[in-house]
Amino acid sequence: MGRITGPVCRLCRRDGLKLFLKGSRCDTPKCAIERRPSPPGMVQKRRSKPTDYGIHLREKQKVKHFYGVLERQFRTYFSRAERGKGNTGESLMSLLERRLDNVVHRLGFAPSRAAARQLVMHGHITINGAKLDVPSYLVKAGDLLRVKNRAKSLQLVHAALAEFRRDVPEFLSRGDGPIPEGRVDRLPATEDVSIPVQANLIIELCSK
Ligand code: SF4
Repeated sequence: MGRITGPVCRLCRRDGLKLFLKGSRCDTPKCAIERRPSPPGMVQKRRSKPTDYGIHLREKQKVKHFYGVLERQFRTYFSRAERGKGNTGESLMSLLERRLDNVVHRLGFAPSRAAARQLVMHGHITINGAKLDVPSYLVKAGDLLRVKNRAKSLQLVHAALAEFRRDVPEFLSRGDGPIPEGRVDRLPATEDVSIPVQANLIIELCSK
C-alpha cells in the first residue's frame, strides 16, 4: 500500500495551510508553518505567479496530502464520485471523509491520520465486532467502531484520547467507556469536512 513519505511539514508549507500531519506537534509553537509560513525552497523571489493549472493542481494536492492518499487512489474516488447521482465535489469529499483511518482520527483514537492508519493496520480496531485492518474501508451509516479489548490497543487509544480532546464531528458519536467506541450516525456531508477546499477546482482539473 502506497503512502506519503518524507518531511511532511514541507507539504503544509507548500499548500499554505496546516494539514495536521504530525499529531501532537501540530498544536504547539514547534509547528513549522507557524514558524516559517513561506513555501519551502531557497529561491522564493524567483517564483512566478501561479498559473491557472497550478492553482487547480494545488487544491488537489492539498486534499490528497490531508487524507494521505496517493494519485491512483484519489482517481478511484473521483471516478466513483463522478458516477454517483449527486454533486461530484460533495461526493468526492464525502468518500474521503468516510475512510476508516480518517474516522478513527476524527473520533480522537489517534493523533493524526497516519497514526490512525497504523492503528487500523495493526488490528487495534474492530468494525461491527469483526477485526478490519484496511485503512481505506469506507464506513457506512450505523457502523460501530470499537477498540480491541487488548491491553496494547487500549493503552494506545486512551493515551491519544487523553492528549487530544478534539470535538467529534456531528456525523459521528463516541462512547468514552473503558473500551472506547464510536458510531457512524450518518454519512458525512459538506459541513463535516474539516479542510477548507474548493472542490470545484479539483473537479475541473480531474475532468480534463
Ligand atoms: Fe503541518 Fe503539523 Fe508540521 Fe505544522 S507541525 S507544519 S500542521 S505537519
